[in-house]
Formats: sequence, structure tokens, C-alpha cells
Amino acid sequence: MENQAQSSDNAVNDATKELFERIQAGDSELVRQLIGSSDVSVNCVDEHGMTPLQNAAFKGNLPLCELLLAHGADVNANHHENGYTTLMFGALSGNTEVTRLMLQAGAKTSPTNSVGRTASQMAAFVGQHACVSIMNNFFNREQLDYYTITRGFEKEPKLPPNLAPSLHKMILMHNLNPVRLVQYLKNNENLLNEACKIANVLELISEKEMKSKATNDVLAVKMHYLSNVIRQCHKWNMEKTNGVDEFIKFLLRARENDGTRVNMEKLLREIIREFPFHESELFVQIVRNLTDVKIGDEPTALGILTQAVNGARSLEVVNPCSTCGEAKASKKCSACKQVNYCDAVCQKLEWFTHKKQCKRIAEEHKERQEFIQKENVRHKLEEEKKKLEEEKTRLEEEEKRLEEEQKEAQKETITNGTEDKEDSPSPPKDSGTTESKTIEETTQKLEDTTVS
Ligand SMILES: [Zn+2]
Ligand SMILES: [Zn+2]
Repeated sequence: MENQAQSSDNAVNDATKELFERIQAGDSELVRQLIGSSDVSVNCVDEHGMTPLQNAAFKGNLPLCELLLAHGADVNANHHENGYTTLMFGALSGNTEVTRLMLQAGAKTSPTNSVGRTASQMAAFVGQHACVSIMNNFFNREQLDYYTITRGFEKEPKLPPNLAPSLHKMILMHNLNPVRLVQYLKNNENLLNEACKIANVLELISEKEMKSKATNDVLAVKMHYLSNVIRQCHKWNMEKTNGVDEFIKFLLRARENDGTRVNMEKLLREIIREFPFHESELFVQIVRNLTDVKIGDEPTALGILTQAVNGARSLEVVNPCSTCGEAKASKKCSACKQVNYCDAVCQKLEWFTHKKQCKRIAEEHKERQEFIQKENVRHKLEEEKKKLEEEKTRLEEEEKRLEEEQKEAQKETITNGTEDKEDSPSPPKDSGTTESKTIEETTQKLEDTTVS
């Protein structure tokens, strides 16, 4: 390996040693200080030939990985004794965000380790399937740059080179909510201005993925979908003033009685149906999942599409924004407190239609809370009733036992004659009556325990 000499030099440095210890401990502040000092190289290696980034990736520590990359860590540095790459370490950690970050930082997917396995094969081997899915669905920048070069008799490339970075970013977006995609287009006007070219390139990529030897219909479906969202957005932009905002409104408009976004559902179903490669198994599966689902019922077309592209667990999003679907939306509607938003912008976008739902949502929430409370009370009463019933059974058994004892005693008295009468064991005189009284009381209590 070319950097072997440099690696052993680095390994002896005290500051370097401390850096690796701090990464192990996950102490980002000290790591930040250390990599800021001149004694430490961000691409140094430990005794196994692992870089700081590889250590952080193996730990599945996303903030540390981001920090190291921001300080110039080389994602493709490879001095490891067994040829493990940073991407392999990230995937082995099982952290999907770390895996994605490495890919976005330009990690190569093809290198193999000393046992001849790629990162994806290693991850599959240890059962990190979410990471496998991310690696297999990743779209390389080079695959896109292919279209930025003039080919054959072309006067200009299919994709203007200056658009490649922002288009690539859009392709990698995990959130397929059309509102989020349109917001992205709105913020990247250069993409919107060349919407037709971009949409065409995406359809070409989709076709290529379907016709290549190693068919990738996940990418093909995603590209087809993105292409069509861009086309629709362009259409609105051309036909109306403030067309992009109007398109967002169109997508968000909810049916008054149940909040269903009918326009969005219909549009997404239409886009899915237009996927031209009907032999694709994924396409068949998506269509099968959509058939017989009435508009307004679950799953939605967006849900089915997201699962098909991003994997089975992709719908488990924490506090999604009601407008754009981004995760961890921290603001809430102040009136109903039931829907989340990224920020004031997202809330403002949805308000025109949410205001018709807000009261109903709040009432439904209140009803739900009351129902839960009622259920809790009912549950408590049931428990009490069960306990009393058990107590009743116990007392009845006790009474039976005493009766039998009494009978036994009488029998003995009869067989033994009168002389033994005084010595014969006899039950306490009023014990029977006490027991029956307690049973009566228990039964009474049981009847009082009304179950609502
Ligand atoms: Zn949002
Ligand atoms: Zn509300």
C-alpha cells in the first residue's frame, strides 16, 4: 500500500493516539480540538491501519463522521490491514445515516476486502439489510455526469453541467413527498428553468436501469417518478402566475370531511401507472398494492411508492411534517396541537386547507383521549370484579370444606355412639353463618361493581 510508511509514522504520535481514544469515547468536542491542531492529520491511521473516519463510521457515530469529513477526511483512504473500506465499516455498524453519508461523500462501492467481498456483500453477510438497500439504491455522481458530456452528433450535452450538482442532490433525496420535491425545485430555480431537459435525462436513466444487465427497478421507478413530478411542476409554472405555489396548494388541498389529499393521491397513481416497463416485478407489486385501495384509505400511493423505493421500514418517520413529510418536525399547530411542521413556512403553506380540518382534528383527539380514559376506568373495574369473584370462589370452597368436615364429624358421632359425644370434634357453632354472610357481602359488592 502506498501510504504504509506514512501510516506507521503517524501511529506513534501521542496526539494521534489521543484522537483515536476520543473517537472511541465519542467525545466530539475533544475530537474537534485535536483535529484542529497541527500535530494531528485527519487521515492518520491506528495500529490496524484504520483512519479516524473509519473508526467513527464503525462506531456508527454520525456527528463525528460529519465532523471528520468537514475537516477533509478521505472517505476512500484504504490502509486497513484487511482491506476494509470506510463504507464497509459504516455498513457494518448498521447505521443507515452513516452509510448514506459515506456514499454522499463519494465512497466507492466496488472495492473488496481481503475475503473478496464488497461493502454491500459484507453488510448482507452480517444481516444489515437496511444498509444494503441504501448502497444498492445509491446513484453515483459519475452516472449523472455521463449526460453532461456531448456525445456523437450532439451540439450540446443532454444535461447542462452546471445543473449536475443540484440534480444529483435531488436524486438522492429520501423523502419522496411531492411537496418536498417541489419546494426543492422552487429553491433551485436553475433546475426549474431547464425542467424539460432534466425530466428527459431522468427518463433516460430510468430506461438505462431497466435495460442494463443488472436491472435496478428501484432506481428506475424513482427516476420515472422524479421526472414526472418535475414535468408537472414545470407545467404549472408555465401556465400560471405563481404556478409553483399554486401547484403546492393543489397537492396539499384536502377533502373537507376526512383530510384526504385527493389531488396528490390521483396524481401519484397516474404517474405510477405511466411507468413504461410493465415487466418490472417492482412495478407489478406496486400496482397490486394499490388496486382496490379506495382514495382516502390506507395505504396511500405515496406510502406504497416510498416503501417500494426506500425499503419496508422507511415509513417509520418520527414526527413527519404535515406539509412536506420531513422527519423530526419540531413545531406544532398551536390550535389543535396534533400536526407537526418543520417551520413557519411549512405551516403557512398548509394553513389554507388545514384550517378546515384543525377543529375536527382537535375534537377527534379529545374524543380519543376521553375514550382511553373511559377504557382505563373500565379496565380497573374489571380487575376489581375479577378479584372479588376469586374471593367469592375461595369462600365458597371454604364453606364446602367446612360442611364436609361437619358431616364427617356427625358421622363419627353416630358410629361411635353416645359415650364419645362430648369428645367428638365439632365445628365452631356459628362459623357456617359467618362464612355465608361474607359470601353474601362479596356477591353484593360484585353486583355493585358496575361495568360501564
Ligand atoms: Zn415541512
Ligand atoms: Zn391545527
